[in-house]
Amino acid sequence: MPKPILPPTSRSLMGRLWREYIVRHWVWIAVAFATMVIEGSTVGLLSYMLQPMFDLVFVQGNINAMWWVGLAILALFLVRALTGVIQRVLLVRVAQLSSTAMQVDLLDHMMTLDTGYFQKNPPGALIERVQGDTLAVQGVWQVLIQGLGRDIVALASLFVVALLVDWVWTLTALVGIPLLVLPSMALQRYVRRKTGQMRDAATQRSTRLDEIFHGIREVKLNGMEPYQLSRFRAVVDRIVRVNIKTTAGQSMLPGMIDIMTGVGFFGVLILGGREIIEGDKTVGQFMSFFTAMALAFQPLRRLGSLTGIFQIAAASLERLYGIFDLRPSIRSPAAPQPAQALQADVVFDGVTFAYDDQPVLDDLSFVARAGQTTALVGPSGAGKSTVFNLLTRLADPDLGSVRLGGVAVSEMELGDLRAQFSTVTQDALLFDETLRDNILMGREDISETRLAEVLTAAHVSDFLPKLPNGLDSPAGPRGSNLSGGQRQRVAIARALLRDTPILLLDEATSALDAQSEAVIQTALDGLSQGRTTLVIAHRLATIRNADKIVVLDRGRVVEQGTHDELLAADGVYADLYRLQFRDGVKAL
Ligand code: ADP
Repeated sequence: MPKPILPPTSRSLMGRLWREYIVRHWVWIAVAFATMVIEGSTVGLLSYMLQPMFDLVFVQGNINAMWWVGLAILALFLVRALTGVIQRVLLVRVAQLSSTAMQVDLLDHMMTLDTGYFQKNPPGALIERVQGDTLAVQGVWQVLIQGLGRDIVALASLFVVALLVDWVWTLTALVGIPLLVLPSMALQRYVRRKTGQMRDAATQRSTRLDEIFHGIREVKLNGMEPYQLSRFRAVVDRIVRVNIKTTAGQSMLPGMIDIMTGVGFFGVLILGGREIIEGDKTVGQFMSFFTAMALAFQPLRRLGSLTGIFQIAAASLERLYGIFDLRPSIRSPAAPQPAQALQADVVFDGVTFAYDDQPVLDDLSFVARAGQTTALVGPSGAGKSTVFNLLTRLADPDLGSVRLGGVAVSEMELGDLRAQFSTVTQDALLFDETLRDNILMGREDISETRLAEVLTAAHVSDFLPKLPNGLDSPAGPRGSNLSGGQRQRVAIARALLRDTPILLLDEATSALDAQSEAVIQTALDGLSQGRTTLVIAHRLATIRNADKIVVLDRGRVVEQGTHDELLAADGVYADLYRLQFRDGVKAL
């Protein structure tokens, strides 16, 4: 059984693209199609006009005919110009609208995926998916519709003209075409494979750039410029190689069409030339036929390259739909319970959790009482941040349950759950916008007075005068215009505005100067007033007043109690405490 010309998957991918993004623009496509049919048929008419031009005007010397033939040809060109413009604008509109809709949907979907997905796929690769792959898909329908509308109609009309002139000549001209079917199938597979490799290499290029620009400090400090440059060069070299191969594969089919057309021309000249010499056919007939063939050349080549373009788009679509078909494992339940975090205890009950195969929490249980401050203490890697992740459902436990006011966090609507928490860390991510935007985060219901209160309480107003435009100064990429302490104060201001019942604090691990530390501590104390606060503490001095201290080690609770109780128990906490003060080390 002969194989289908296109692998079924690329056809079904195209079908899905058509149903989900293209068909909604069918009215514009229909208008564009109609103009293309007109444009396509002008080609046939043009070649047909050559017959009266030669036979009536040139051979018979008919002046009247010269006028009407000339005007008819002029009119045909005008129609072509007009329909060409309309059709291109309409198709670009459809291509742009559909590819940007796809980008928006893709981002919308990607943001629902589990955080684990973003750890496995570097940002550069994901950016490439949203930008590069949708771009590769963008033009395919435009080209397909143009091909099907304009080029096929043009070919059909030229074919009719050729048949009208002489069917034997026509068959002679086309005799080579069936020979192209098998090589074209092989070529398509080749182009698809090479395009896949090209998309991979483009992904690597984005990832490299993303890593270099994000890590520019490390690159400079470790003298890694030549190393990074050589890795980058290797990737772009690969892109060049694969690109050349893809283009070679893509242009092979139009190339073969050229050869076959050449053979056709030759055959017709030998056959037709004799008939004209012997007076069986007129020069006008021959010219008309020849022009029809010459004009068939371009649409035929374009149709030949269509399959290559189809394969390129299919390679990108495969990746795009691969992402669209991923389902996040962390989702809102079908019938969510309302989140009641106000005056609600946070309970970890026999929670066991592993990142992939790495066990992190082991039957962890503790309670953080409503309205109180609970500190999590323990060596790095003990699982403190993981506790935050499970509480906010950035990850779900393998065993046990995490409850808020008696309701499992997994029973609540995700957005509703996360609206119960504010998080403050020193590496609070700021966006490359003004400080005002970074603090308001899109909220429009905050009055200037309330904003001013918050800025004062978070001690942001202390450093505003030092910035060139105060609150309207840009924070820089990832907040790089601010110091760690300043970023933390911005995060405190955000949290004050969010005004959520539960506060998650991740204390700065890097040492701040004593003055900033005191300022931040006051701001944090103000923030945690009346809220259920969980704090990951690195400097034990700051949690002396915590209502409860939970000491974690290797994912288990090893001790819990107040500062005084734990010191009296003389266990792990007491050791840690003595260690910090004896060595003068401030952070664990
Ligand atoms: P802590 O906050 O106490 O320093 P974490 O909760 O951050 O500890 O991490 C606990 C353990 O889990 C560490 O060994 C860390 O390497 C590992 N870990 C943390 N996050 C991830 C992750 N996203 N994927 C895989 N392992 C992780």
